[in-house]
Amino acid sequence: MICKLHFCTVKYLKHKTMKKITVAKGDGIGPEIMDATLEIILAAGAKIEIEEIEVGEKVYLAGNTAGIAPESWDIIRRNKVFLKAPITTPQGGGYKSLNVTTRKFLGLYSNVRPCMSLHPFVRTKHPVMDIVIVRENEEDLYAGIEHQQTDEVVQCLKLISRPGCEKIVRYAFEYAKQQNRKKVTCFTKDNIMKQTDGLFHQVFDEIAKEYPEIENEHWIIDIGAAKMADTPEAFDVIVMPNLYGDVLSDVAAQIAGSVGLAGSANIGEECAMFEAIHGSAPRRAGQNLANPSGLLQGAIMMLNHIGQSDVAERVQNAWLTTIENGIHTYDIFKEGVSKQKVGTKEFAHAVIANLGKSPVTLSAVKYATDAPLNLPKYVRKAAAKKELVGVDVFVHWAGTDANELAAKINQLNFGQVELSMITNRGIKVWPEGFKETFCTDHWRCRFKPGKGYQLTKGDIINLLSSAENLGIDTIKTENLYSFDGYIFNLCLS
Ligand code: NAD
Repeated sequence: MICKLHFCTVKYLKHKTMKKITVAKGDGIGPEIMDATLEIILAAGAKIEIEEIEVGEKVYLAGNTAGIAPESWDIIRRNKVFLKAPITTPQGGGYKSLNVTTRKFLGLYSNVRPCMSLHPFVRTKHPVMDIVIVRENEEDLYAGIEHQQTDEVVQCLKLISRPGCEKIVRYAFEYAKQQNRKKVTCFTKDNIMKQTDGLFHQVFDEIAKEYPEIENEHWIIDIGAAKMADTPEAFDVIVMPNLYGDVLSDVAAQIAGSVGLAGSANIGEECAMFEAIHGSAPRRAGQNLANPSGLLQGAIMMLNHIGQSDVAERVQNAWLTTIENGIHTYDIFKEGVSKQKVGTKEFAHAVIANLGKSPVTLSAVKYATDAPLNLPKYVRKAAAKKELVGVDVFVHWAGTDANELAAKINQLNFGQVELSMITNRGIKVWPEGFKETFCTDHWRCRFKPGKGYQLTKGDIINLLSSAENLGIDTIKTENLYSFDGYIFNLCLS
């Protein structure tokens, strides 16, 4: 039987030459699990040349807020393949997440996290679980664009793009096709976020049609997540926007057995980064306790990516054999199930001793025959006809009665533009608001042109300057457009 715990892309296939890779040993348990991982894959015959860089805590504390020196970026970009141990992000403000920065700078749009139970050798409530979470890795709320707008309100922009959706959804279907998986499920919350998650869902439906041999379905994320935690065997490949994928891939790894067992691949058009999904577990550091399996799973995905699938296969089968033999680190050790509790180094040596062996009960893997993924570059579509149809002006106002604000605003000289609606945290409070609605100091005032009038940017500028003259504190505007005649914001009442 073929186990489905990996993938590979087209770039390095059939080039069985030495491949230079960048390695960062990270912080906490990072150096121990990286040493164990490298020892195993080199013993299995990986043809890699290692170029090591320093990232993480020391670099942060030396004053580099990104946790990485500029010359290290040069090395990562030159080698294109990066094996990274977890790092510690120092507490306190001002430090940027190196993981998020790396994924976005290098265009690593696809995060692939296989989560498979190892029943009956690792305790799990879900013995037949075998899912792969494909998480969009660059956009969504991770754009990091946040602002304080009023005394009471801060905002975080959720950005979803068509190229971002097309690339990740196609990746999920291509992965499913290559791995002979039967179904791709999409999780979104498009009943609430009709434009952003709505676009993700729409693109999913469009691309699914190109893969009629693969079943497809969409779940609203809340009930989908509950179903996944309760009945993971109902799912196969699950694709989702960034934040949902971040949360649910940890849940999936944990319910499969342990976060310490799962690896992750971050794939872009040029570069790729491989890692464990867990963090640097500082309290376990330096004690030869940590389980190196998560990082080893990342390294196995890396070997497949660089075309060394035979080595990946040897390592994975030896690792499965070791797990099956009950040689377990503390995190998965269970009396009555496990046979021997070992440290990081001893676990690595047990895997090395099992190279060439295949598991008996767990499914052995067969990687060597994989076809490459077909991932064409995104092609921008012709621009739609875009027409300005209204504007939302956001106002900082400490009052509580929307009628009062509307009366104040209606003193403005708008010309051909009229106030059509006021909302507070998205709820309409004027006209005909409810007195029960709680209001903050953050008001969205929607303006639309009079009948037959074509709104211009000049009208918006006039609107803002007359608001300024009246002492109304405008904090931002959002232009409302129709695209090829389609207006999303239909409620331009
Ligand atoms: P964590 O994943 O480091 O550890 C949580 C707990 O899980 C640990 O206390 C330990 O009991 C267990 N654990 C995790 N990995 C294990 C392993 N390989 N073997 C055995 N047990 C393991 O999460 P945390 O404590 O929230 O974060 C610690 C640090 O890691 C923070 O600084 C955080 O920013 C960082 N972090 C880094 C990454 C990354 O570099 N990719 C990811 C997540 C967190």
